[in-house]
Amino acid sequence: MPSSSDTDIQQRVRRLENLVRRYQESYYNDQPEVSDAEFDALWDELKAIDPGNRLFRIVGADSSGVFSKARHVLPMGSQEKAANPDEFLAWARKTALPDLVVQDKLDGASIELQYEDGLLVRAVTRGDGMIGDDVSANARKMGGVLAQLPVGFSGAIRGEVVMSRAVHTQRFSDKANCRNAANGIMKRKDGLGAEFLEVICYDVAPRGLYDTVAGDLFVTQVAAPFNDELAKIDWLKGAGFHVVGTKLFTDPYEVIDYRARVVAGRDSLPYDIDGLVVKNREVDPDDMRRARPEKQIAFKFPLEEALSTLVAVEWSESGATYTPIGVIEPVRLAGTTVKRANLANTNTIGGMGLKLGSRVVVVKRGEIIPKIEGLVENPPDARDIPVPATCSCGTSLVDEGTRLYCPNPACPKKALHRLEKWLSVLDIRDFGTGILGRLFESGRVESIADLYGLSMEELAAYERMGDISAAKVLQNLHTRNELTLAEFIAGFDIENIGLLIVEKVVAAGFNTLDGLRAATVDELTAVDGLGEITARALAEGLATLADQMDASVSAGSLVIKTPVEVAGPLVGLSFCFTGELAGMKRSRAEALVRSLGGSVRSSVAKDLSYLVTNDPGSGSTKNKKALSLGVAIISEEEFLALTGR
Ligand SMILES: [Zn+2]
Repeated sequence: MPSSSDTDIQQRVRRLENLVRRYQESYYNDQPEVSDAEFDALWDELKAIDPGNRLFRIVGADSSGVFSKARHVLPMGSQEKAANPDEFLAWARKTALPDLVVQDKLDGASIELQYEDGLLVRAVTRGDGMIGDDVSANARKMGGVLAQLPVGFSGAIRGEVVMSRAVHTQRFSDKANCRNAANGIMKRKDGLGAEFLEVICYDVAPRGLYDTVAGDLFVTQVAAPFNDELAKIDWLKGAGFHVVGTKLFTDPYEVIDYRARVVAGRDSLPYDIDGLVVKNREVDPDDMRRARPEKQIAFKFPLEEALSTLVAVEWSESGATYTPIGVIEPVRLAGTTVKRANLANTNTIGGMGLKLGSRVVVVKRGEIIPKIEGLVENPPDARDIPVPATCSCGTSLVDEGTRLYCPNPACPKKALHRLEKWLSVLDIRDFGTGILGRLFESGRVESIADLYGLSMEELAAYERMGDISAAKVLQNLHTRNELTLAEFIAGFDIENIGLLIVEKVVAAGFNTLDGLRAATVDELTAVDGLGEITARALAEGLATLADQMDASVSAGSLVIKTPVEVAGPLVGLSFCFTGELAGMKRSRAEALVRSLGGSVRSSVAKDLSYLVTNDPGSGSTKNKKALSLGVAIISEEEFLALTGR
């Protein structure tokens, strides 16, 4: 005998059935009475209290409430990503592909359409990349999905399920964006709204191309037309599919400008796209086996950008280097008005084809100076950007593409700039640039060491100087004869090596001039926040300026202070590494030791605290020596425990 609550439930079930039917009907007749969310709530409630309801069987969903699973023919791996032109150029240089196929990266939901002898048998969502949901019933209603192909093809077509902006605005404006709407509808059990979606295709592979053997992806030889990305697109178009916008370029900078044009016009596109996919034209089976293929990359769009016009280029002079800065028509970007934007170097200007008058895309991320990220178009009256050819010293400038500079080692600009930098880093007041300029022009002071050779008498003889001023200046200079290593190095005005950079290096344990000079580029690169280019600049600067530095130390009786002992768990401990480490490069481990107050040794001695090795039984000289001297031998894991990581 049914209880009263059972009766209540039955009544509720009938009520829900009626509502769902009615709203489905009104929806199909283009007159929806309730929002999708309200409909979903009714649907879910019915499913919760009566999972076996006939309504679910009528619309073809399985009674478990979950789509059945299906395996992909063409596995969906993950993709390399480039967030900006610099990252993209780094990838392009590394792969050096002869042809770059560039396709719109549609912002929707991935789908695989599976065909057997030309008939659509299955449509599978992305899922985990290997296995996804079988949404065939929904897919059959979508635009661009062919139930039958003109040829007897067996294999997989890859595409993106998208909702056009027009449909989103007209019918689904309650959904946050096109992608959310497309995703939600694609996965509806009742298929409601699937007819408003469209599948746009970009890849195709015949069955048997991919196989998994013991979990390993296996890719057989790819035959025409499926071995060429452009031929694939032609094939898809010929079969009747909608295909993504596809372009072919050979120069990475052309891709950067193309991206800028797409970004500039993306508001008027029928679909949302969130970037470009750049891939090798020729399909490389070995590359496709990789979990993340290297020969393709998602070149993302900036989150926020502005369009402006490049009106002038200023050349900022720092020492011997000339750096281009774009002056643009003021534009609002990320909450600020932007008037100037970085142009990096002459490679950037030439590569992007920038001219005075160019329409450009300007991007700002966080606090960094805005950058010009690509050319949108050059008006007919655009003019070439003049690049300075000669330094004020008369020497022809060298344009390395990445750097424009005066190669004259005796260039006054360089030497004078160094003197100014020295006085500024040491904060030596009253030594105005006027006096410095006169001393420099007269040839009396050409290097930092010369500063310390100045006598009060000769200084006082300089125009408008007088005894009192001269005494003050020299006193200021000589009271600052104790300085930190970071101040000393930064004062020598090495290109791109400022105080903060040297402080990082010192904190990493290179805390004496000799120790710093002995450091290799690799060791310096391993210092957090440095990078190889900076490390190289520092190492080369130290070598070039070695004589000048030594001369300054003796001329000024300079004392380079040893930094206050670094506090850290490894203070007082010394480490020597041998053999390979599993978790990090040796240089990184050594930097870690220094940053935590410890020291690094290259050989084993009695007072060494620890020899770190993952292979204590290797019989290496260091192992034997440590054993014979009773030096503790620890593993990488034990080492990491000591560092607290
Ligand atoms: Zn010069």
